[in-house]
Amino acid sequence: MQLGFLSKLSISGVMKISNLKKHNDMWSVITQKCPKCNQGNMFSTLFTMSSSCSHCGQDFEIEPGFYLGAMYISYFFTSFFLLSSSLVLRFYFEFDLLVTLAIASILSVLLIPIAYRLSRRLWLGINL
Ligand SMILES: [Zn+2]
Repeated sequence: MQLGFLSKLSISGVMKISNLKKHNDMWSVITQKCPKCNQGNMFSTLFTMSSSCSHCGQDFEIEPGFYLGAMYISYFFTSFFLLSSSLVLRFYFEFDLLVTLAIASILSVLLIPIAYRLSRRLWLGINL
């Protein structure tokens, strides 16, 4: 009787690990696929998010204000990129400080669509 309990426990553990892998699949994050099925696209255009998954029907609009937490992830991405690119431009390429800040700022603005999409996909994957 205890063996039956242990076999159910181990199957349950395997299921949790497979769910964790499914929700954190890096390729799914990079390509902004649905965190539930890894098939449907989350975005229909550059900044327009689909309301639900075209493959499994997962609702992407969980509740009003759900994606406010994604702003923290986007802030982290942008800050990290701005700081690291500034350090490389300033100390490796030895640009002037104003030129460094101008180039890093322009690159950060160009990064906005990528940070927006990745942060929303990560936030949804974390909270599903
Ligand atoms: Zn899906």
